[in-house]
Amino acid sequence: MRTLDVSVVTPDGPVFEGTAEMVSSKAKSGELGVLPGHIPLVAPLTISAVRVKQDGKTQYVAVSGGFIEVRPEKVTILAQAAELAEEIEVKRAEEAKERAERRLAETNQNDLDQARAEYALRRAINRLDVANHR
Ligand code: ATP
Repeated sequence: MRTLDVSVVTPDGPVFEGTAEMVSSKAKSGELGVLPGHIPLVAPLTISAVRVKQDGKTQYVAVSGGFIEVRPEKVTILAQAAELAEEIEVKRAEEAKERAERRLAETNQNDLDQARAEYALRRAINRLDVANHR
């Protein structure tokens, strides 16, 4: 079976390196499923799960935005932060979610603080979703 090399890289180093039969991700333009031989492209990702299908199993990776670069035999994901499902600290994500919800409920915040809280909430919800797939 044909496979792809897959790397998920953050400023702290690689989070995942391996081969896959398929990589699914959520680009800003919509769902992006990549099989070996895909045409080259670069696309921005949403705060979402990347799913790497390998030997009939699927590894979930939480990515906090970033970019996907697709080449026919390689997928590279560059993200500011990324975690494997099994490495996510659930308590930390729950606390981040509660903190963000509290901030969003405050009415005296400026637009920038509101936007920051919204992104923090999305990151936390995404981590909690991905942590369910371990
Ligand atoms: P927190 O408020 O808990 O720090 P955050 O969304 O602000 O959450 P980020 O700025 O996205 O955190 O990430 C900072 C670093 O912490 C990254 O290396 C990221 O992988 C890691 N990280 C954040 N939350 C978690 C988590 N729940 N489990 C494991 N690693 C995490």
